[in-house]
This record gives sequence, structure tokens and C-alpha cells, in this order.
Amino acid sequence: MQINVSQLLQAPVGTERDYQVSDVVDVAGDGNGRQVEGKVRLIRTPRSILVKGGLSTDVELTCSRCLSVFNAPLALNVEDEYHPTVDVVSGTPLPPPEEPGSFTIDTHHILDLTEAIRQYTLLAIPMKPVCREDCAGLCQNCGENLNQGPCGCPSPVTDPRWSELTRLL
Ligand SMILES: [Zn+2]
Ligand SMILES: [Zn+2]
Repeated sequence: MQINVSQLLQAPVGTERDYQVSDVVDVAGDGNGRQVEGKVRLIRTPRSILVKGGLSTDVELTCSRCLSVFNAPLALNVEDEYHPTVDVVSGTPLPPPEEPGSFTIDTHHILDLTEAIRQYTLLAIPMKPVCREDCAGLCQNCGENLNQGPCGCPSPVTDPRWSELTRLL
């Protein structure tokens, strides 16, 4: 996910460039490439290049209720500044950006979105993923996946949220 920005760095402040993104990125850092699609706009600012855009990808998650593995689509709203590390005309090294952890453009004027996409992906993954909103989860009694129908346990199976309520009452 690399974009050569040497021309944009030499363009006047406010210059914009749009890029269509369609690439395979190891978004979760687990060695599995996932398709990333979308659009980004690169804007020349006085000291950096601002990247803004909307990307979509998907990751494999484990449902927190029924433990099945499913594909979750993720929407990534990207907005980051990338600071050049060398002057584009003279090649002189530039001082590092003031904000720690800022993204940089390498000495060959390559702006690499991979790390940002990884970070946005991690942020977009829900804490308690569910395979679907109405996932029935596993039977508390026999552990069967209730999405595949009733398990045949004698007592009516209660939703864990209800048993929590009963306990409180
Ligand atoms: Zn589930
Ligand atoms: Zn059961």
C-alpha cells in the first residue's frame, strides 16, 4: 500500500490527489492478507501530507457468544498526517515530526499506508464480536450451538442476559 508522493511534495500547499485503493494488506498482522478497498485523498499541507479517506476490509473474528469463526466487514475512516523525512528538492534530512508516533514518508518519498491501516483495523475490531445481532450463543447446559436449533436440554434454555437479571431479582 505504497504511494509515491514526490510530485505532491513539490506541489503548492492545498494540492489534492485522489487514489483508488485496492490492495491486499496483512491488516491483522497475522500473516493473512485481506483485501482493502476504498478511496483516499492526499492533501499537501505546509509541513506534511494529510491522508483522508474511507476504506473497507474484513477480518476473521470469533463470535463471543457461540465461538464460531466468521468474517466481519470493517469500515476504516482514515485521517493521518505523513511527515517528509527529507527535503524533496535538496534531499537534506528534515527534523523528525514533533508528535511522537507520527507517520513519516521515507527518503524515497514513498508514503506507506500499511501501518495506519493496521492500526485502524485494530481499533475497528469490536471488543465482543458477535457473528450476528441475534446470535443465540451456546447452551449453558450442554454447550451446543443454539443457532443450529434447540439442543434438547430438559429445562427451557434462558438467555444469559435474563439469568443475570433473575440473579439480581
Ligand atoms: Zn455467534
Ligand atoms: Zn443444551
